[in-house]
Amino acid sequence: MKAKLGYRCGECGDIHDDYDEARECCEPTVYEVYSCGHCREEFGSHEELAGACCADVEPDAPPIINQAELEALGQLRLGI
Ligand SMILES: [Zn+2]
Ligand SMILES: [Zn+2]
Repeated sequence: MKAKLGYRCGECGDIHDDYDEARECCEPTVYEVYSCGHCREEFGSHEELAGACCADVEPDAPPIINQAELEALGQLRLGI
């Protein structure tokens, strides 16, 4: 699976897709983090390890959505 680059807020540890978002989260520290594009396991600065994770999954396969995110989506829909 292709490695996905994210940006981790150095304060609260949240990972953001966007560098600016991470920077504005709890400034000032931002770390680059590579994660598996499928299961989202994090590999820190090891892009090649993230790329090797889930290697048997089709490159176009969508990311796994975890239970918490499903619930968040459900709540989002309820809120509309
Ligand atoms: Zn933060
Ligand atoms: Zn994986």
